[in-house]
Amino acid sequence: MRIAEIHVYAHDLPVVDGPYTIASSTVWSLQTTLVKIVADTGLIGWGETCPVGPTYAPSHALGARAALAEMAPALIGANPLQPLMLRRQMDGLLCGHNYAKAAIDIAAHDLMGKHYGVRVAELLGGVASERVPSYYATGIGEPTEIARIAAEKVAQGFPRLQIKIGNRPVDIDIETIRKVWERIKGTGVRLAVDGNRSLPARDVLRLSRECPDIPFILEQPCNTLEEIELLKGRVLHGIYLDESGVDLSTVIRAAGQGLCDGFGMKLTRIGGLAAMATFRDICEARALPHTCDDAWGGDIIAAACTQIGATVQPRLNEGVWIAQPYIATPYDPENGIRITDGYIDLPKRAGLGISPDETLFGSPVQQYG
Ligand SMILES: [Mg+2]
Repeated sequence: MRIAEIHVYAHDLPVVDGPYTIASSTVWSLQTTLVKIVADTGLIGWGETCPVGPTYAPSHALGARAALAEMAPALIGANPLQPLMLRRQMDGLLCGHNYAKAAIDIAAHDLMGKHYGVRVAELLGGVASERVPSYYATGIGEPTEIARIAAEKVAQGFPRLQIKIGNRPVDIDIETIRKVWERIKGTGVRLAVDGNRSLPARDVLRLSRECPDIPFILEQPCNTLEEIELLKGRVLHGIYLDESGVDLSTVIRAAGQGLCDGFGMKLTRIGGLAAMATFRDICEARALPHTCDDAWGGDIIAAACTQIGATVQPRLNEGVWIAQPYIATPYDPENGIRITDGYIDLPKRAGLGISPDETLFGSPVQQYG
């Protein structure tokens, strides 16, 4: 089988009840990039990459499209059933830009699953959970309001909550965590506190030491891995890396040197589904819990995250975050990926398990082949 055509689409995703606020950005609408690979047999695979604005990470929508323009012409004729060879070919065409390569990798896996008549989760090792846990991430907000949202989401069935903090006096962040805990204590819901790189180590030390009775993990509290390394042994809470987990080499270093206790991981940051499966196995070898998320995006990326999330050993599975609650129009109105009672059902159909309505995306912005 050969790749006969590659089509790239640009699509806007306005944030329902926006904006969505995290320490690094406030977003009203996101620009996603869709990739459709057409094989010489007529089989189609879909991929997607959608940075959550240009300041969350060193990735942005126009960067993804430029990177795809750099690589896609040379990928015509490549075998989509060999994702390892495809990745090596992409690395030979462009240095870095994992988040653009991920869209091709996801599309190839969708195509491969459809070709073999199996779900992507089965290609990636097998299904551990048909019902994949999700988690709810609050934006940054006033303490009482965030506590109200936390209680509401627990009542809806979410097994885990993530509270966003940062970019304001740490006293307000501490008050937020305490008010949330007052509302959810005893429910068994797991709690993560995500600084999105924004806190000085001084504030992280204070926050941890003033909340010794509350069992949360601290996600990416500081900007750099070096600052986070300095926190080890000085805080009372586990530390997860998110934004600093930029590639498999960094993950190996962090896991091997015990720099973190787990990860929030983004599928497109690490380079796609094949790299994510390797990441999953590294984590399992060291019993490091982790998520399988992406920064934003519609049904295609949500399906990809759910497929890999379904393969994670349940005791290490911190859940799959998807942007679906913030997106008004699903790509696939019938089989779109959605959170129900805090969990996501793994699609039953082959490949990613969804069929995007491509009329939503308009004409391609790039076409090859
Ligand atoms: Mg995070």
